[in-house]
Amino acid sequence: MTLIPWLKEVFTIRRLTPRQAVRVLVLVLGLSLWSYSWLSASAGILQLYEFSLVRMGTQVRIVLYAHDHATASQAASDAYERIEHLEQIFSDYREDSELMRICRSASQSPRVVSPELFFILDKSLYFSRLSDGAFDVTVGPVVKLWREARRLRQLPEAEQLAKAKLLVGYQNLVLDPAQGTVFLKRDGMDLDLGAIAKGYAADQALAILRNYGIRRALVDAGGDLSLGDPPPGRPGWRIEIQSPELKSGLGPCELFLHNTAVATSGDAYQFLETRGQRFSHIIKPSEALGVRDSVIATVIAPDGTTADAMATTLSVLTPSQGLELANSLEGVSAFLVRRQGNDLHTFASSRFPPFTGGPLQHAGRKPLSYAH
Ligand code: AMP
Ligand code: MG
Repeated sequence: MTLIPWLKEVFTIRRLTPRQAVRVLVLVLGLSLWSYSWLSASAGILQLYEFSLVRMGTQVRIVLYAHDHATASQAASDAYERIEHLEQIFSDYREDSELMRICRSASQSPRVVSPELFFILDKSLYFSRLSDGAFDVTVGPVVKLWREARRLRQLPEAEQLAKAKLLVGYQNLVLDPAQGTVFLKRDGMDLDLGAIAKGYAADQALAILRNYGIRRALVDAGGDLSLGDPPPGRPGWRIEIQSPELKSGLGPCELFLHNTAVATSGDAYQFLETRGQRFSHIIKPSEALGVRDSVIATVIAPDGTTADAMATTLSVLTPSQGLELANSLEGVSAFLVRRQGNDLHTFASSRFPPFTGGPLQHAGRKPLSYAH
């Protein structure tokens, strides 16, 4: 039967045989699917896509809105590839990373490095100077001792710490922008990008997505978030921030953010507890000790590199020093939760946005989580 007489038959009011009914159903479904995909592509209906892979030793999540699956997955795959490339440069776990090769050779003579490594070392020096060494990219030798201490669950030897401390000092890292070179003034120095590289990687991944025309996106590199335009029809990405209120389920502790970055640092999951003391994996370089004032620092900044570096810095500084520093930087704001004994104290810098929303049911497992 040809289509026109068949349709006539269908639309005349008479009982359909089961076969005809199935045909109608298939036709209607086919038409709806076709028109839906045509409409989404042409009328700009965006769909949500989520991706998650372990990169840089942490779970990296990409959440984005795109018109179709092919574009979404191609863009995400390129973003992950960019992160892998950066990991190969920045990792201090891989002996063959560019960073590790530089640590081994740049004390003999200045070495030319990749633009990415130069950029992040330059940023690191900026934050080291800005924080008067609370953030110190040369803290590697001390970090390694504390990493081992956490594994063995015992404090590093005082003598080893004293030796390692002699190798820490951002003043001994020399960058030459004209030549693109790095020089380490002392043999045995060890650079550590753990406090800044993930934020930079999140920025870079977001930039890759933008190249695909994907602007409504979020990249979460293990708590370092870079945010693009908000989800459709929303004021921003809903970010839950660790605070005592969140823990007790009383809120308010959510923010709606977009086109910005947010990072959290603290000793919530990585610490050494021994002889009644708790030492963070974040080091106070002036003492070569893990930070003992338990602080969770959340920083909002124009880019992920700044948010990441500042969140670590504010975990080392006292709250008043940290807030003063945050207040002095354009576009930067901070929220601190400090534990003293059984008491939790919160501090917010002057530009930190007010929390929105009421009680939250789902306190995130991580210090910082989000929904969309
Ligand atoms: P984050 O999770 O961003 O706060 O970074 C923590 C990591 O940064 C640690 O695991 C170390 O690798 C490194 N780090 C620790 N203390 C410092 C410090 N004072 N300055 C710079 N990097 C640090
Ligand atoms: Mg950091």
